[in-house]
Amino acid sequence: MFENLNERLERSFQLLKGQGKITEINVAETLKDVRRALLDADVNFTIAKSFTNTVKEKALGQNVLTALKPNQLMVKIVHDELAELMGSTQVDINIEGKPSVILIAGLQGSGKTTFSGKLALLLKTKRAKNPLLVACDVYRPAAIDQLKVLGEQIGVPVFADIESKNPVKIAKDAIKQAKANGNDLVIVDTAGRLAIDEEMMKEIEAVKKAIEPSEILFVVDSMTGQDAVNTAKEFNDRLDFDGVVLTKLDGDTRGGAALSIRSIVNKPIKFVGTGEKMEALDVFHPSRMADRILG
Ligand code: GDP
Repeated sequence: MFENLNERLERSFQLLKGQGKITEINVAETLKDVRRALLDADVNFTIAKSFTNTVKEKALGQNVLTALKPNQLMVKIVHDELAELMGSTQVDINIEGKPSVILIAGLQGSGKTTFSGKLALLLKTKRAKNPLLVACDVYRPAAIDQLKVLGEQIGVPVFADIESKNPVKIAKDAIKQAKANGNDLVIVDTAGRLAIDEEMMKEIEAVKKAIEPSEILFVVDSMTGQDAVNTAKEFNDRLDFDGVVLTKLDGDTRGGAALSIRSIVNKPIKFVGTGEKMEALDVFHPSRMADRILG
């Protein structure tokens, strides 16, 4: 991931190599390249512009105070600003309730079901939780089977009701069962559509209202670039979710979604999916992601 962006940024820093200090002229040249690299990585235009303006101000401001060489200073400032753009600090999920309820939302194919399994495994092994997974997709029986297979694989029970066509009832029944069986965490995987439609939004709003989740996570495929950002915005307007999960970061994603979502939607990225396996889930740390982008 980010190979292209990484290479392009590195090349733009090269422009400063051998320069005695950062000047209005050489910084402008470098930042023109940085901006182009960000735009090619599918970062929103306004973000790319304000990003390079901030970097320029800092580079010119810190120039006199530092012992770093111009290219090193530029790498440091770009690193810090990339981390800032992605939220600066890591934000944890809220799993305080008894049971705590996590609602998973997103389009079909974004990786919701896979992520639900990964999250259950992570919270079971790292946070000593006893989760129950809930299949709330009443339209695709295959989605229920998929969750059951994952549940079996990771040793987590799955609640499903193939007779019911009512996701609100399924979710409520699942919470009842969790209480009865001593599951302290309920992860509700909802139905997605290929594109946002009113019916889907109404349905998931109703589920949210009925089960009052302590955490709503919006799952989005990072390969979809600016579409990912637009979808996030629409889901957030309706659901006011708590965090974003970026999936498929192991693919040749260009990086735009990772870099734009935080500042456009104003919600933190909390997890990233890095493969199809159940273990392929990372907690999102903005600074570490900036390290990876810069190679
Ligand atoms: P859903 O329709 O939103 O529930 O999406 P699924 O969980 O079924 O995922 C759709 C496809 O993406 C499946 O083939 C998953 O194996 C795959 N997938 C999900 N997350 C990742 C990821 O982080 N990396 C990769 N490479 N594939 C993923």
